[in-house]
Amino acid sequence: MTDQQRTRASKSKPVYVGGCLCGAIRFEAIGPADKPHTCSCRMCQRHSGALTTAWVEFAKDRVRWTGAGGAPALWRSSDASSRAFCPACGSTLGAVDDAPVVALMVGVFDTPKALTLMPTRHSHKAGRPRWWHVECRAD
Ligand SMILES: [Zn+2]
Ligand SMILES: [Zn+2]
Repeated sequence: MTDQQRTRASKSKPVYVGGCLCGAIRFEAIGPADKPHTCSCRMCQRHSGALTTAWVEFAKDRVRWTGAGGAPALWRSSDASSRAFCPACGSTLGAVDDAPVVALMVGVFDTPKALTLMPTRHSHKAGRPRWWHVECRAD
């Protein structure tokens, strides 16, 4: 996507970009970012190494893998979803669901501080240590 195309797209719908630590896996996702939420389940903790992960979701046809590495590697993690990661550097990107949804972790976005990516709810909140606090946006 050229800068001109990006600007045009951003007038109607935001375009989010991001990628893994080494840069092999890059994505462009056309917003809006759905279901912004945090999760403290054991699967997210093991997958990411973080106590709480922050997620947003996009319809699969709104996500393009644009880096030299193409699409991320997948690991089947449940009956409905596969975890996605970079095979070169190991960074987690999120999850590719069987439903046509790609869930991306907010930490891999180039603009992780965007308010449109701020979580509105916390899944599996009891899975976090009591000393660990996460703020969610009131909707
Ligand atoms: Zn990588
Ligand atoms: Zn989780």
